[in-house]
Amino acid sequence: MTNTNEVRNANEVRTSTEERNSAEVRNGGEVRTALVIGGGIAGPVTALALAKAGIEATVYEARPEAADGVGAMLSIAPNGLAALAIVGADEAVRAVGQPVPGVVMQDGTGRTLADFNGFPGLPETLALRRADLFRVLADHAVANGITIRYGKQLVDAVETDEGVTAHFADGTTASADILIGADGIRSTVRTLIDPDAPAPGYGGVLSFGGITSTEGVEVKPGMMHFAFGRTFLGFWGLPDGRIVWFGSLPSEEPLTSAEVRAVPNETWLARLRDLYTGHAPGETLIGRTAPEDLMVVGPMEYMPDVPKWHTDRIVLLGDAVHAPSSSSGQGASLAAESAIELARCLRDRPTAAEAFAAYEALRRPRVQAITGDAQAKNKAKAGKAGDKPAFPTPEQMFAPVHKFQINWPAPA
Ligand SMILES: Cc1cc2nc3c(=O)[nH]c(=O)nc-3n(C[C@H](O)[C@H](O)[C@H](O)COP(=O)(O)OP(=O)(O)OC[C@H]3O[C@@H](n4cnc5c(N)ncnc54)[C@H](O)[C@@H]3O)c2cc1C
Repeated sequence: MTNTNEVRNANEVRTSTEERNSAEVRNGGEVRTALVIGGGIAGPVTALALAKAGIEATVYEARPEAADGVGAMLSIAPNGLAALAIVGADEAVRAVGQPVPGVVMQDGTGRTLADFNGFPGLPETLALRRADLFRVLADHAVANGITIRYGKQLVDAVETDEGVTAHFADGTTASADILIGADGIRSTVRTLIDPDAPAPGYGGVLSFGGITSTEGVEVKPGMMHFAFGRTFLGFWGLPDGRIVWFGSLPSEEPLTSAEVRAVPNETWLARLRDLYTGHAPGETLIGRTAPEDLMVVGPMEYMPDVPKWHTDRIVLLGDAVHAPSSSSGQGASLAAESAIELARCLRDRPTAAEAFAAYEALRRPRVQAITGDAQAKNKAKAGKAGDKPAFPTPEQMFAPVHKFQINWPAPA
């Protein structure tokens, strides 16, 4: 296969945002085709970034169709939006997101501890439904010429010196130069790379959310409120005037999502009301949330350090290798960052193995720092933070995370 992309000398690389995001740079590498396993968040972004690097990628998704019923909310931070902008997906995501650029830190009595309005010059953090994010990223990929094959559950992968062949549950196969495991926190690709790879860890809390009216609760427009105290509650105002809240129940027992969902909402609400008694505004918000408006999210999980990120032709990205737990608000954003970084390394390094090693070296420290921070928050939520204050100021907390940007045209 030939490389049809423009080759540019690194000296010619300019660094304006527009140029950075639109640059099609290829310094030469052996990889021309890729199988991307997983059509969630990382998968479509990876395929788009690979196309920009001159690598033809097809996405294989286990779900039978594009629609994903998972309705939980998540956020895309400025760093995630910057990564999405490199493949031109940021506007589509913005169209389904609600800007929540600021953060209010408060204690459990309703008293404000700190206000933070976001960093000037960075895109605004968005809150959106996970299902909407899946949909717009898949649509954007398809509109840009990416093929997504649904009903393709990877069960095995056979690697040779020349390439890799994926085997799917329906008996079909597909071959390419490399295979990318973007198949989420319960990744099959992770165990194909290393049968002893760690399983997801449990953060010690079960996560819930809810929607209710604002009455009697001060909520600042465009601000995400983090209310600490004896236990934690996050909330923000919806455009329709209601409030979304998210909180958690400490639980020694790592129940599965199915087990959590099997318990009636009324039972969970009673336990949450108990825990949040005396917490402002948790007591009010949870107290008047109707059972049908409770979102039962499930156990808060994260990926412990994964020793092997890749073989010579198979590599992991997104939640498959670095799920930081939803306490970080960074899972989707990190998945987008890794997708871009992997494509940049494949564009610039001569072999897949060298590209994967460079990608791991670039990504591992960053994702470890964010995962470690999320774990500290989970401990605090589970009431195990000890005497040390678990939360720094908003600027300290967000600067290294939100200001991170990948310089796409720069050689990897
Ligand atoms: C309740 C909740 C709240 C969250 N909140 C936030 C937040 O606020 N901010 C944030 O940034 N992140 C948040 N996250 C995390 C975020 O959703 C994930 O980090 C993100 O979806 C990771 O993207 P991914 O593409 O790596 O994995 P996923 O989105 O999980 O996608 C993996 C895809 O692979 C497919 N797949 C799995 N196995 C196979 C197989 N064998 N063959 C083919 N396909 C397969 C799956 O069907 C899925 O579509 C939250 C997650 C949850 C569950």
